[in-house]
This record gives sequence, structure tokens and C-alpha cells, in this order.
Amino acid sequence: MSEYYEILGVPRDADEGQIKKAYRKLAMQYHPDRNNGSGEAEERFKEISEAYEVLKDPKSRARYDQYGKEGVKGAGQGPFQGFDLHDAIEIFMRDFGGGGAGFEEVFGGGRRRSRGARSRKGETIRIRLSLTLSEVVHGARKKLRVKRLEPCSRCSATGSAEGTAPTPCGTCAGSGQERVAQRSVFGQFVALTTCRTCNGEGTVIQDPCRTCHGEGRARADAELEVEVPAGVTGENYITLRGQGNAGPRGGPAGDVMVLLEVEEDPRFIREGNHLLVDVPVTFAQAALGAEVSLPTVDGETQVEVPAGIQSGEALRIRGQGIPDLNGRGRGDLIARIRVWTPERLSSEQEQLFRELQDLEEPAPASGDRAEEFRDRRGFWSRIKEAFTA
Ligand SMILES: [Zn+2]
Ligand SMILES: [Zn+2]
Repeated sequence: MSEYYEILGVPRDADEGQIKKAYRKLAMQYHPDRNNGSGEAEERFKEISEAYEVLKDPKSRARYDQYGKEGVKGAGQGPFQGFDLHDAIEIFMRDFGGGGAGFEEVFGGGRRRSRGARSRKGETIRIRLSLTLSEVVHGARKKLRVKRLEPCSRCSATGSAEGTAPTPCGTCAGSGQERVAQRSVFGQFVALTTCRTCNGEGTVIQDPCRTCHGEGRARADAELEVEVPAGVTGENYITLRGQGNAGPRGGPAGDVMVLLEVEEDPRFIREGNHLLVDVPVTFAQAALGAEVSLPTVDGETQVEVPAGIQSGEALRIRGQGIPDLNGRGRGDLIARIRVWTPERLSSEQEQLFRELQDLEEPAPASGDRAEEFRDRRGFWSRIKEAFTA
């Protein structure tokens, strides 16, 4: 669990300042352009940048502390699946660069993927997907309708009208790059940055396509499928890589981010992978013991209520909760016993209760038995504490 902390060489209780300082120091050491493009240094640089990116944000750090890497990966397909050198460098320059665009060329001299293609990447589309509790328990394959931009078929995504072609950009002479002075932690550099006239494409469109007006992409309806693993919560999301908007003029497509929502099921309270359910029993059932039925996600089950159970005590039905997202078993169904007091008595019932009253001992208010009673009542809060710990 302490992997990210070890990578940065900071204690688990390090504050933001320590994390930032540790990362900065390591980044200076392993930045690929200080290591003659050594693959090992690149790997280390990616590692420390990923660790830094997770730990510097209190929210993702809390998820990481609780669930480890799975917690910051969404539903197994989260933000770091495609974490690459470019992302690492962007993180570094975002927090330690001088501000502005085109930083990677400060170090890279253009050997990384072209800035033009990057800037033409299509947008990520966010959509919400609502799930029932049963779908959470079993996992589900769901269809999604999305409106997105797809490559324009009229101009084959070039953006140019039929029979015409884009011409080289006059500002950058087709290179897609301009020279500007940049400041970074390593000092002042003359950096190559993306040409603002052509946005790094190196070409400009003289006669735009009538359908897409030079964008090279057009609106379309699409149906996507998403596989939702069992055990998700409303905090998870699923990334469908390359299923978002097409980039302009043949640029790579963005992603679809599926934000999950779990519908309330009035029968249950969810605590992590456990499900809590209230089970009403009568005085007689509580005193004598009984077999009662209680709801499960898919139907019902029977539970043996032991004689002498107190109102508020809980029974645990193992393995009837929600499967763990990471395959570590399944949660429990916790039945909280609620002794139900009759609100209207028939004369016969009243008669019997009066006879019972004459026979029964008073409820303990002090002494050992009262202590025991309080202890048993506390069981429920201890369970809740255990869940939230
Ligand atoms: Zn077109
Ligand atoms: Zn240009």
C-alpha cells in the first residue's frame, strides 16, 4: 500500500509541501532530458510523476490510502491506464514549468509525438449511467447512446472541399512550430512551441468542406457498450478509450467517461460492500426466537433470530452483500433487529400483556445486567464503526 510513498521517499503522513519537494528533487534527477534518453530514467520519471499526481491531490490520496492503486484507477480502466511519458512531462511542467504551452520541446527537441496531433485530439465525452443495486451485485453489460463527432465522410476528415487540398501554413512554413523563449526550473530556454496560426498542423484550409466547414468531423449518434464490473459505487467511472469525439481533421479521438450512479434501493443501506436491512420482529419473536424472512438483492432469505435478542442488535448473513470490485470476496447482509411495539391491542392481547406484566421482571436500569444490555445495544454502532474504519 505504501508504494507511491516509497517511490517518492516520503513518510505516509507527509504534507503537501514535502510531497512536492520530494517530487521536484527526483524529477530533476530523472528527467529524461538530463539522462540522455535513458529508458531506465524515463521509467523512473513516469513512476514518480504518477505517484506525485495521486498523492498531491487530497481526494485521490485518500482513495489511494484506503484502496491502493485500484482506488485511483476507477473501475479498472481509470486515468492511469494510459499514463505515458507525455503525461509525466505535462505534470512536471504544469507544476514546475514557467507557464504557457509547448514545454516538452524545451527538453525533447521534437522527438516525442507531434504536438499537432496531440492538440487535435478529440474531446472527452462524459455521460452518466444509472445502475440498479442488482446490476451492482451482478455486474452488467449496458448499452449507451452518445451524440458525438465522427470523422466527416464527405471530405474523409481532411476538412477541405472536394478537389482541393490544404496549403502549407505561412507563419511556420509548414513546420507547425514557432520559436519562443520559455522559463522553467532549469532556466531560460528558447523553445519550440505550437504554431498559433495553424495550431501545429502545418497546413491551413483554403476551401473548407461544405458539410463540416473545415472541421473534418460531424455530429453522429452512436451506440456503445460498456461492461460494468460487479461491486462498483457511484464514485467509480469507466473510461472507454478512443470512443469520444473524433479529433478535427483526422486527429485522434477522445475518450468516453462513463460516470456511474447507483439508484437508491429503499430496502437497503449500503456500507462499502455490506448491505444493511432493518428487520421488524414482535415482542414474542424477540423473546422466544423465530425464523424470519428478510429481503436480499434478488429475493429473500430466512434468518434464525435467537431467543432474547434486543432491539437494535444485528445479525450477519455472510456473503449476501456486494461482491468486492477487486475480487476480494463478497460483503455481508446485516440484519438490524427492530422490536415492533403493537400500537393497538385487542382486549384478549391486552389481557395477556397484563398477565405477562404481573409475571415479568423489570427491565434492567442499573447494575451488571444493565451494563450487559448497554453493551449489546452498542453492537450496532460497533458494526457501523467497523464498516467505516
Ligand atoms: Zn468534411
Ligand atoms: Zn503554422
